[in-house]
Amino acid sequence: MQGNKTHNPDSTSSSRQISRPGQSPTQDTPSNPAPRVRFAPSPTGYFHVGSARTALFNWLYARRHQGTFILRIEDTDKERGKEEWTEGILSALDWLGLHYDEGPYHQSERTSLYNEALSKLWDAGFLYACNCTREEVLERTRNNQTPGYDGHCRDLGYSRSGHALRFKVPRSGLTAVTDVIRGNVDFPHQAMEDFVVAKSDGSPLFVLANVVDDIDMDITHVIRGEDLLPSTPKAILIWKALQGEDANLPVFAHLPMLVNEKRQKLSKRRDPVALESYRLKGYIPDAFCNYLALLGWSHPSGKEIMKIDEIISTFSLEDVNHSPAFFDVVKMTHINGEYIRSMSTADFIDVSSKWLEEAEAPWSRDRFDMSIYTRIAGLIQERVATLSEIIPMIDFFLLDMPIYDDNAVSVLDGNPEAIHLLETALERFSGCDWETDVLHEQTATIAAEYDLKLSKAQAPIRLAVTGKKVGPPLFESMSILGREKVLQRLQELLYRIKTN
Ligand code: GLU
Ligand code: ZN
Repeated sequence: MQGNKTHNPDSTSSSRQISRPGQSPTQDTPSNPAPRVRFAPSPTGYFHVGSARTALFNWLYARRHQGTFILRIEDTDKERGKEEWTEGILSALDWLGLHYDEGPYHQSERTSLYNEALSKLWDAGFLYACNCTREEVLERTRNNQTPGYDGHCRDLGYSRSGHALRFKVPRSGLTAVTDVIRGNVDFPHQAMEDFVVAKSDGSPLFVLANVVDDIDMDITHVIRGEDLLPSTPKAILIWKALQGEDANLPVFAHLPMLVNEKRQKLSKRRDPVALESYRLKGYIPDAFCNYLALLGWSHPSGKEIMKIDEIISTFSLEDVNHSPAFFDVVKMTHINGEYIRSMSTADFIDVSSKWLEEAEAPWSRDRFDMSIYTRIAGLIQERVATLSEIIPMIDFFLLDMPIYDDNAVSVLDGNPEAIHLLETALERFSGCDWETDVLHEQTATIAAEYDLKLSKAQAPIRLAVTGKKVGPPLFESMSILGREKVLQRLQELLYRIKTN
């Protein structure tokens, strides 16, 4: 982008069709129709958290103003697009709960529309055919101040067929992008190249298909990532070429880019950005959407944890900030934990057991015992921030033998106090009643005999029973697990630390 960037705080009070919170949108009048927004991903890779944020903001805007949320798959790039990526988009939106009202439209099925537009632009003299190879352009423009194509073929009069088609950007003047979030951004034409709108095989490029569809679908608001801002002046030029100078342009809103903790733009290579990885880690879709909403937008009161209905009713593009938004996994995890704790136990059991059914876990699927899980879920719910944290907390219930933390075990190797304590526990637990309170009392008595704090005395018993140093409350866990298994595990740990 080469333009002088002039922020205009008043841009939103212009005649643009934006409804502000507290102001009821007058959708029934033709000058201010219900908004039609679209999420227009290109299926060229796995679904990214940035795409999820874009989809969410479009969806929120549509829901806030009783508008229409459209899904359009921009699959014109046949080499990079794959069916599986498209499926990934659909399943991601489904998981997030962002249901679309129209679509999915596939650009690959709309070629005739783009051809028509290309003919119209050609006939009206907005395009010319270019015969240059990439190498020739590079060779000629190496020392140019303005990067990009130099207009070489503009007046050479090549025929349309078999050539790439370029748009004649006016030699002077500028195109101003009015953006709800950024104010006015000017793009002087001298800094813009004559950009390609169709390849030599006749297939349309992104910027052309994108505008043709936005026009055809009556899109009123283009809400998308900041990375697309440089293509917006091109879009506006095409829009005006197709519709005339007084074209009914959409409202543009370019969402701030997402950055990591080093303030670097999120990158597929460097950062964990695949939405799927968050689903696999056990984030809750509602919590995830809540967090995504905060990437650029904030509630007027500053509050951060809120139900989706409240986000919808307060959401406004004017409250979106233009500075980069830090994608903070720690904060997101905290929010997820809050959501988990605020569920009813019944909901938690329902959501988490469904998640666990699909998860990769150390127990075999048929070992998952719903009656046991129902008894322990309440203990777990308080202690996890993501659903994947449940797995190491419950594996000892579902496996014959726990997965021992070898480091923790080796600390006890040959330790006479630990050995005596475990032997005493084995003896007492063999004869006592099998109830949480009794197990607690018995352990407290052992602690007193050894002159230890309860937590100290409990530690080797916990390690024996669960395999780990931390976990859900021990005595409840033991009472659920049953005497036979507990005794067997005490013997197992004794054996390990005596023989090692
Ligand atoms: N298909 C474009 C992309 O995924 C987005 C187009 C748009 O939102 O205007 O980058
Ligand atoms: Zn050329």
